[in-house]
Amino acid sequence: MSRVEYLEQPARSALTKVERMPFKWSLNPYTGCVHRCTFCYVRGFERRAGRPSDHRYGTNVRVKVGIVEQLRRELARRTHRDGVAIGTATDPYQPAEGRYQLTRGCIRELGAARTPISIITRGPMIVRDVDVLQDAARLADVEVHLSIPTVDRDLWRSTEPGTAPPHQRFRAMRVLVDAGIKCGVALAPLLPELSDTPESIRAVLLQARDAGATHAWMNVLNLRPGVREHFLEELAKDYPEQVERYVELFTKAYLPNAYADEVRDVKRRIDQELGGIRDRRIDPILPELQLSLL
Ligand code: SF4
Repeated sequence: MSRVEYLEQPARSALTKVERMPFKWSLNPYTGCVHRCTFCYVRGFERRAGRPSDHRYGTNVRVKVGIVEQLRRELARRTHRDGVAIGTATDPYQPAEGRYQLTRGCIRELGAARTPISIITRGPMIVRDVDVLQDAARLADVEVHLSIPTVDRDLWRSTEPGTAPPHQRFRAMRVLVDAGIKCGVALAPLLPELSDTPESIRAVLLQARDAGATHAWMNVLNLRPGVREHFLEELAKDYPEQVERYVELFTKAYLPNAYADEVRDVKRRIDQELGGIRDRRIDPILPELQLSLL
């Protein structure tokens, strides 16, 4: 891979209003992601913004310096406490976070403002932030979703060239759950014939269950312009026999509803057979007030 260029840009805003999603606000301390997943839907946004969505995606990461202070100002102006999703457009625990610690700072600010937080990541580096996650969870709802669509090492290497291996993500899950943080698995995205088979889904759910996952959800691949070209090009390198099937399936960007429903049913059935990860309870972290009374 080419050398990654990091561009520091002053954060003009921190929170972005979101429509038609289960959360009202999103927050992304970085733009661009060195994990470079072949299926990454952000490639579509990059293309629309006039930036490269092909093999050059992930070689240029914009770092929103000052986002923590900006978030503090925005939170001070808010009269509501709607939840904030972190990591909707780039991984908040990609390597840059090790140096800049912007995600960490934002969690601290959101916690202090008693704002519910939902984090989605493929980065085991999140365990570094157990302390601030626990502090935030004492004041508001905190939920982590670790994206782990497959435990097949060949498929992982082929489709997620920059992420940590799945077993490291499960290890991170165990650390978070043991620390009292709600942490579940996101089988996202599931790839037709490759990771949406019952065997593949079962293997992920089994490891998630053993790692203490508090919830599990899934979605299926979509191939919007900008994602489609790169994904199919990479698929042809490692899974050439699948290309024709994908072209047949993806006459549009999204798979037919019936296809997605069928995969969802398979996941639900396996989840039930395994005893049900859904809504598994963990010991709550006591609110600050209660702690001070002990
Ligand atoms: S980790 Fe997420 S944001 Fe980063 S490349 Fe992969 S799918 Fe995209």
